[in-house]
Formats: sequence, C-alpha cells, structure tokens
Amino acid sequence: LMGDNPSMPWFGMDIGGSLCKLVYFEPKDTTKDELESEIEVLKNIRRYLTKNSAYGKTGHRDTHLQMDNVVIRGRKGTLHFIRFPTSEMGNFLALARMKGMANLVTTVCATGGGAYKFEENFIREVNMKLAKFDEFDSLIKGMHYIEAQNSDECYYWANPTDETRCAKVNYDFSNPYPFLIVNIGSGVSVLSVNGPNNYKRVSGTSIGGGTFLGLCCLLTGCNSFEEAIELATGGDHTHVDKLVRDIYGGDYERFGLPGDLVASSFSACCSFGQMNSRDRRSKVSREDLAKATLVTITNNIGSIARMCAQQEKIDRVLFIGNFLRVNPIAMKLLAYAMDYWSKGTMKALFLEHEGYFGAVGCLLQFNE
Ligand code: ADP
Repeated sequence: LMGDNPSMPWFGMDIGGSLCKLVYFEPKDTTKDELESEIEVLKNIRRYLTKNSAYGKTGHRDTHLQMDNVVIRGRKGTLHFIRFPTSEMGNFLALARMKGMANLVTTVCATGGGAYKFEENFIREVNMKLAKFDEFDSLIKGMHYIEAQNSDECYYWANPTDETRCAKVNYDFSNPYPFLIVNIGSGVSVLSVNGPNNYKRVSGTSIGGGTFLGLCCLLTGCNSFEEAIELATGGDHTHVDKLVRDIYGGDYERFGLPGDLVASSFSACCSFGQMNSRDRRSKVSREDLAKATLVTITNNIGSIARMCAQQEKIDRVLFIGNFLRVNPIAMKLLAYAMDYWSKGTMKALFLEHEGYFGAVGCLLQFNE
C-alpha cells in the first residue's frame, strides 16, 4: 500500500484571494528503516514546520486546530494547519527555497484561484508542480473528512443574544443531507449539498469578508483583521445605524419588525434632528464604525443565506470561511438572524476548522 502512495511531504494548499491555507500531514507511523533512509531535507522541513508556530513575519500555525492520529491513504499521523496572507506568496516561496524544497521532486496539491495564478512561480522558485483541484469539490471533501474524524467539529450557538447564557453547543452532523454551505471568504459562495457527490453553487455575493476588512480599514484606519474585530467588540452599531425605533418610536408591530432592528445601515450619521449631522458624526467612535461595518456585512450575508435556504427547501445552513475566524460577534448574529427570520425553522451551524476545508480536501485528492 505504502508503495503506491505519493512521496512525502504531503501538503494541501488553498490559495485564496486573501489567505493561503496550507495543511501538512506529518507521518507518525514511520518505521526505523524508513526514518534512517529519509533524506535530510525532508527531516528538516518536518522539524521546521512542527517545532515552530510562526513562519517568517506573517505565517502562522493554528496549533489549537491540530489533529492527531488521523489516517490518510493508510498512513497514520498529525494534520497541521498553517496560514499566511496570499500577498506574501513571494516571501513564502523564498522561505521554502531556503529550506531546500527545490531539491525535492515534489508535486503539491493546490486549489483556489492562486493555484492558477502562481503556478509558474512554484515551478520557477521551488521546482514544485501543482496538481490542481476544483475548490468546491475540495471544500466539500475536506469538510466531510474532518467532520467524520472529529466528533466536536460541528456546533451551533445557543441563546446567541444573551451574553450570560450564550454558549457553543456540539451538533451531531452524522446525517447531514440536505444542507446549505455558506462559505464566507473574501467573497461569499452558497452551495446546496444533497449528497456526497451531489451539490450545486446556488448563489454568491461579492460583499464578504474582504469587504468587511476593506471598509473597516478605510473607516477606522485599522490595519488587520484582528484589529478590526477587536475594535468592533467594543463598539455600538446603534450610534451609526438608523433603527426601526428611530423611525417609528418603537416596534413596527403590524409587520412584526422590532424597534431595535436596523432599518437603514449607517444612516444615523447623516440624519437631521435635534442634533445636526456633523455633531452626530463626531459622537461616533472608531469602535462604533467597526461594529456597524461588521453588522452590515454579516446581516446581508445572513439574509442571502436565508433566501437561498428557503428557495432550496433546506433548513440547516453551515457557515464556514475565515471571515468567522476569531469572530463570535458575526457567528452569533448569523445564529440569531437565521432563527428569528425563519421563525425557528432554520438552524445556523459552524465548524471548528472553518477556513481549512479546501486545503484538506486537496490533500485527500492527491493520487485519488
Ligand atoms: P479566501 O480564500 O478568499 O482568501 P478565506 O476563507 O481565507 O477566503 O477568508 C478570507 C477572509 O477572512 C478575509 O477577507 C477576512 O475577512 C478574514 N480573515 C480572518 N483572518 C484574517 C487574517 N489574519 N488576515 C486577513 N484576513 C483574515
């Protein structure tokens, strides 16, 4: 069996519009003979990847996501999850070259637009051929694999609007079909999944995670996703948005619209009233702007997700993608919005390895 396997190292790569996701399989069942005959470059690469959690200035290993004792193509080992900004591809390739990657005869499985965009660079800089796979095939394969390996993978948010009672609750996703995937990356794609090899892309929007980060940087002067989320955490979007109660003085009862519902995003900043618009704007903090941006983008995605689910007659919606990374505010908003607007008939679900399924699926398809 081992003879039929592709040679090590095994990588899966998803080169997206914002982030490059790299999944590395570290074999743990290596025999003594195998270890002795293993070439130095390979040993060094394994050591470098597994002993560090930061690579260069911008590469990170998500150690909390590491999965031990997984079996791939009959080999037992550990999956490591690494990410870096796609804009750093040049530095990544230089680093890989420095670590001796160019001396290995390797093919790396890759998906995402960057698998096409950077194909020449991989050959030129590190002598690596890319085996290209479709990003949605990879996403779904990777998701099913990880979900089957990790019983704690899938969860939902209980009591999402109650700070004290709100909690992550494990969800049994062993009987998944049909379900909707809403992948929130730089942009958003919506997939309707009816069986292991039966899915279609039903919708999408360019207003996604990249839009949140871009607008937030423009409005607040922040410089990273982490900073944007931190700002939003301390902000109050009602200083920026116009709510139903700002227009009605309370709920719009006839159509069941609660007073605290956003009626018009960002429009409190330019409304005239007791306060003129300039005074009102000067009361708005960077935190408020970050929060309002997050709420606007998230609610828009939630609304599209709900319409797609309704159209497809599906009641479980799986939200994934790196927009949800360190972003409980967005997850709770989606959880609440799906539940409220569907009158409790639809459920928002989430996965721990949110942004890595494309890369995992890619690794699995190697030599398939
Ligand atoms: P893509 O494949 O389009 O790059 P991802 O699923 O990787 O999509 O998600 C990218 C989005 O994730 C960004 O637009 C941003 O909203 C969010 N994000 C989370 N963490 C980071 C980070 N460290 N750097 C940049 N964006 C991040």
